[in-house]
Amino acid sequence: MIQLPPSPLQLIDDPLLKDFPVKLYIKRDDLIHPEITGNKWRKLKYNLIEAREKGFKSLMTFGGAFSNHIYATSAAGKEFGFKTTGIIRGEELTATSNEILMFSKINGMDLIFLPRLNYGFKDKITRQYKDDFYVIPEGGSNEFAIKGVVEMMDEIYAEITPDVVCVAAGTGGTLAGIITGLRGETKALGFAVLKDKGLMYNFVSKLLTVEKEFNIINDYIFGNYGKTTLELIKFIIEFEKRNPSIKLEQVYTGKMMFGVYDMIQKGKFKEGTTICVIHTGGLRGRMKQLGEIF
Ligand SMILES: *Cc1c(COP(=O)(O)O)cnc(C)c1O
Repeated sequence: MIQLPPSPLQLIDDPLLKDFPVKLYIKRDDLIHPEITGNKWRKLKYNLIEAREKGFKSLMTFGGAFSNHIYATSAAGKEFGFKTTGIIRGEELTATSNEILMFSKINGMDLIFLPRLNYGFKDKITRQYKDDFYVIPEGGSNEFAIKGVVEMMDEIYAEITPDVVCVAAGTGGTLAGIITGLRGETKALGFAVLKDKGLMYNFVSKLLTVEKEFNIINDYIFGNYGKTTLELIKFIIEFEKRNPSIKLEQVYTGKMMFGVYDMIQKGKFKEGTTICVIHTGGLRGRMKQLGEIF
């Protein structure tokens, strides 16, 4: 069975927010599995089920040097009995270049390093290997990913009916799943973590089979993907002091949480709003200076 237990939903009881008339919940997808983290599990689950049903023994996927998706795929392969191959962008890299690659390799993933990995090239590799490998797109975002994220939304609705669901958005695949799983009046807010000149908006729209409005917030990018500032690091350190059961990282969840707090403090949410933020995991990529958690 390809299944992990649902993640907990937790009320954030932060003294800093006590004068603001909102309720803030966090969906702890970071706790789903120590390695198959957060949204990457949600996006992989139905891909893994499909791969098994079709009789595949091996998975192949693509990613950059610090890809949480690569790492999660390697861990999922180990957990559920698939061989895994990761095609990594960056000819100069090796399996010991960083922790993400190292732990993927330790999980048994074959790593192949290529100089360029554009769309055309990925398509070509996919076509070439599609009989021997179940090929998952970069970032894992496809219709099966949407199904897995909708399941997360169902878990949330089983406990609360939020007015707003907030998530960090890289490619926007997870956001597309959240939008698909919205019920009633709930709105989705994606917090962009990179500059993308509208690419994400198109990508999300393409993945949607439902007509729904959604918002992408571009005010908390902190430079660009992977970039950070002292202000962001200070926010994370102070957040963790006040909320010791929750750890963040500086690439995704830290930026989203900074944005949510800033918007709450600036009165951007109506009185009585119930907000649910998604902890999408990714803590392997947490900066060493913030302290080890593994
Ligand atoms: C990959 C990742 C995201 C972004 O997910 P997309 O579906 O690409 O938008 C957000 N948070 C974490 C921790 C991630 O690893």
